[in-house]
Amino acid sequence: MQMNDLAPRIEAVYRRIAEAAHRAGRNPAHVRLVAVTKEHPLSTVQAAVAAGLFDLGENRIGALEGRIRDVPDPRVRWHMMGRLQRRSAPALHGLAHWVHSVDSERLALRLDQSCPEGVAPLSILVQVNTSGEAQKGGVEPDMAVDTVGRILEAPNLRVEGLMTMAPFVEEEAVLRATFACLRSVQEQLRSELPAYAGTELSMGMSNDFELAVEEGSTLVRIGTTLFGARAP
Ligand SMILES: *Cc1c(COP(=O)(O)O)cnc(C)c1O
Repeated sequence: MQMNDLAPRIEAVYRRIAEAAHRAGRNPAHVRLVAVTKEHPLSTVQAAVAAGLFDLGENRIGALEGRIRDVPDPRVRWHMMGRLQRRSAPALHGLAHWVHSVDSERLALRLDQSCPEGVAPLSILVQVNTSGEAQKGGVEPDMAVDTVGRILEAPNLRVEGLMTMAPFVEEEAVLRATFACLRSVQEQLRSELPAYAGTELSMGMSNDFELAVEEGSTLVRIGTTLFGARAP
């Protein structure tokens, strides 16, 4: 894409977020845009930062390391998303500010145990499989209370909330149900786990972010709509 197209694209995304929020009686200021720069060239990341996008998302640790080296801007909050191997957990400390894809208790505990001493707790979102698709990662909704309850005991993690990935379909009812399920899991955690203070719902991508905002998303993760198609 042409980088001089970026400002109007950002503006259009913010407008669509605001309209969706208003449809649901929500304050658009409670929805944060995470710009997913994965697989795009460095020039795209630089243009994003120059345009005022300071929440940036990547899905591979090696790529994240490269980004931080190439764009060492302290204003940027780096968001890690996408499936993570447990053995790569130690490398995330000091790189990611937020990890969206904590899809199991085992990964959470590995992240906790590998946290260097004296470092602030890592902000995480527990991924919940609210689409029911077997190939999707995440904690099953009916296991969320037990699993999150145990993750809350990890001293080096700060559970900011939950994350989900919707199925890649067009049917509005299916997408809405996937997002509404995440919101109801959040409500259940709040009522059943006194230690749970999560407020964030990371849901919505290029394909479906307006529905996600209508259903309560506080973090939308958008790549293609901002930056165009990724190189195959
Ligand atoms: C790539 C990716 C996105 C962004 O997807 P787009 O459809 O390009 O907006 C969001 N979330 C996750 C976890 C991703 O891997």
